[in-house]
Amino acid sequence: MCGIVGYTGPKKAYPIIIKGLKRLEYRGYDSTGVALLGNSGLKVYKKKGRVADLEDYIVGKNVQANTGIGHTRWATHGEPSDINAHPHSSASGKLAMIHNGIIENYAQLKQELTNKGYTFKSETDTEVLLNFIEDIKNNNNCNLEEAVRIALKRVTGAYVILLIEEDKPDTIIAARKGSPLVIGIGKGEHFLGSDASPMLEYTKEVVYVNDYELAIVKPDELILKNLGNEKITPFVTKLDLELAAIEKGGYDHFMLKEIFEQPSTIYDCLRGRLDAANGTITMSGVMDNMEQLKAAKRIIIVACGTSWHAGLVAEYIFEELCRTPVEVEYASEFRYRNPIINKGDVIIAISQSGETADTLVAIEKAKEQGAIIFGIVNVVGSSIARISCGGAYTHAGPEIGVASTKAFTGQLAVLIMMALKIAKEKGTITIERYQSLLVELEQVPDKVASLLKNADQLKIIAEKYKGATDALYLGRGYNFPIALEGALKLKEISYIHAEGYPAAEMKHGPIALVDENLPVIFVATKDSYHEKIISNIQEIKARKGMVIAIITEGDEAIPALANDVFLYPMLMKLLHHC
Ligand code: GLU
Repeated sequence: MCGIVGYTGPKKAYPIIIKGLKRLEYRGYDSTGVALLGNSGLKVYKKKGRVADLEDYIVGKNVQANTGIGHTRWATHGEPSDINAHPHSSASGKLAMIHNGIIENYAQLKQELTNKGYTFKSETDTEVLLNFIEDIKNNNNCNLEEAVRIALKRVTGAYVILLIEEDKPDTIIAARKGSPLVIGIGKGEHFLGSDASPMLEYTKEVVYVNDYELAIVKPDELILKNLGNEKITPFVTKLDLELAAIEKGGYDHFMLKEIFEQPSTIYDCLRGRLDAANGTITMSGVMDNMEQLKAAKRIIIVACGTSWHAGLVAEYIFEELCRTPVEVEYASEFRYRNPIINKGDVIIAISQSGETADTLVAIEKAKEQGAIIFGIVNVVGSSIARISCGGAYTHAGPEIGVASTKAFTGQLAVLIMMALKIAKEKGTITIERYQSLLVELEQVPDKVASLLKNADQLKIIAEKYKGATDALYLGRGYNFPIALEGALKLKEISYIHAEGYPAAEMKHGPIALVDENLPVIFVATKDSYHEKIISNIQEIKARKGMVIAIITEGDEAIPALANDVFLYPMLMKLLHHC
């Protein structure tokens, strides 16, 4: 994943691109670069590091240009370095290109070009594709657009590419397959981005470019074509997104802001759907597909990363409430193996962005085999939302932090409502239990708000354990996937090695790692597992491990054992039943 930005129009391109890159840094942050087209030709500036490092490097350099492209990289081919950073320049120096994705057959293309005498400055797949395009352009004596079209027919993999050409100072050529591309339509200007955030203050009118489409973007003109060179009428969508939603709003970073937004994002997710007073859940995407959902012999959840963890929680919830068998699959595994999909299977795809490439391909495959696809995504109008038969948005607002937080709780809120709705229709839940769960679900935003008031206690705990090199997260029942998610967050954000495990499983191996230097985080709610998890805590203490326990208010047993505790309010009965 990486962030791409482009601009062509009467304004100065450089500040628009830099601002856009800062908003897209959540997508990639190991190196950044810009290519600018102005009166003095094509200029490329790139640097290892964050956007701020690039800005420092560019101070005093010529950035006069009305057309430009910018990239914030998440390296796949070649280490993060100045040379591997995008944009890449072609052999002649006349073309510059940025790329989000992976060219899977790059080695073969590279060999063909090497045989022709080409040499490469970087280790990237991107530079190979760029020179492949230039080679076609030179040999066929055609324009850049034509060369891109021919080249892409030979390419396997995923990409969004933006190209600019020295002799065409106001044109950007763009194409996509499998990575997202949005084009914003201004007055006599166009904006390009991986998502709409770089263009929000300039326009609300956008076009989501589809796979296998190519765009020729000039200040006054946007031409969209397929790879067969047929024109396509751009479908213009109105953005329902405010600038404030993508700014930090006084927080030090986006992730913190998004954590603290959860009372309102969970509320927004429930709003208009859940009505505890009347005992109703209104979700049109679920209702429209109720017959299939009720009759489903099996639900297969496909997702990646944090969304996969939400899927694991959903497995417990759906099996318990709806009595429907559930399998949870990593999309990246599911898409490449030969899974059994039976008639009547329902696939639930979970993705914050709605663009997760593996998830998208997995559901395309399942759809071809006749499965019913239900999408749970955050970004309205995203690819997964478009190809699903039905679905529900999480309404969490833009998630800009690199590590997913509020999208995860939004996904859980949607999945719980869905399960309750299906269970009620199927008759697998008693009316009393259904009603009381609705009432408790409605209280979740307030309970999350009260929990966040104690966040400073977590700072004290973090300070105490920040020197650890490893950590173990343990939970049982619903809290096992939560433990996995906790470990993922610690790895991603703190670069501390962490493992998530079912608490009862650790005796089969991981317990060997426990010593006085290992913090062990227990997600240990006051539920029917409580006594069992106390035994697991004892096992850790017996090996001198340091126990940090996340416990329910009023729990008197665990504080007596743990080194540190963090309290949270008594939550839904759903989470306390087994
Ligand atoms: N594969 C390209 C590279 O490694 C692009 C990666 C990205 O999407 O940032 O440079």
